[in-house]
Order: sequence, then structure tokens, then C-alpha cells
Amino acid sequence: MPDQTCACPHCKCVLGVDAVMKDGKGYCCPGCAEHHAHGEPCASATGCECAKSAKS
Ligand SMILES: [Zn+2]
Ligand SMILES: [Zn+2]
Ligand SMILES: [Zn+2]
Repeated sequence: MPDQTCACPHCKCVLGVDAVMKDGKGYCCPGCAEHHAHGEPCASATGCECAKSAKS
């Protein structure tokens, strides 16, 4: 199975051991799984800015 990327629209993180499955989609972290509804930052260590993008 190829590497899967996070289903968060602005996140390009690859799903790892901490991936969260929700509604049949894989997210790299709980923050992404909740669509950053509470401003949770992405757990990625690569400086991913998907949380900022989710906030309008
Ligand atoms: Zn991210
Ligand atoms: Zn993500
Ligand atoms: Zn995200």
C-alpha cells in the first residue's frame, strides 16, 4: 500500500503511526481530524501550516 497523505485540505503530511481514521479518511493528527476546529496545530514537525489555512 502506498503512503497515504492526510485528508486535511491543506495538509500534505504523510500518514504515520499516529494517523487518525475518521469517516473513512486518514488524518495525520487529531487536529487535522477535527479540521482544526479549536485551533489545534498540526502535529507535523515539518512546519505544516494547514491549521493556519483552516482558520479564516
Ligand atoms: Zn498538516
Ligand atoms: Zn494533517
Ligand atoms: Zn490539518
